[in-house]
Amino acid sequence: MKVSMQISFNLDIINKCVCHKCPVQNQSECVRTQMAGLKTSFREIPLNPHKIPKAYCLNGKSVCKGIDRSKPCICGSCEIYAKHQLSEAEPGGFYCIEGKSA
Ligand code: SF4
Ligand code: SF4
Repeated sequence: MKVSMQISFNLDIINKCVCHKCPVQNQSECVRTQMAGLKTSFREIPLNPHKIPKAYCLNGKSVCKGIDRSKPCICGSCEIYAKHQLSEAEPGGFYCIEGKSA
């Protein structure tokens, strides 16, 4: 079954997203800089997904280098992943590298 993401980028999904704990992106200097600037990025209206290293299933690939595909994607532990049955859609994980869920 093909599942489409019908939700929009907002603070609720950002808060539920677990990408900030993920080893795939945690060693990237660029991602760390984005994480450190999150408070400022959250004040921007509209939110700019390219400055927020989360919710890649909605927004697509990270703009950062240094992301490590050899580490495990932890999307499977995310509430959003379960709620929207993302395991049934493509790519099924590693959205920061593969692009958003279709
Ligand atoms: S499924 Fe993955 S990318 Fe999407 S909100 Fe959850 S942890 Fe973040
Ligand atoms: S999309 Fe998956 S692999 Fe990428 S940072 Fe989020 S949890 Fe990790």
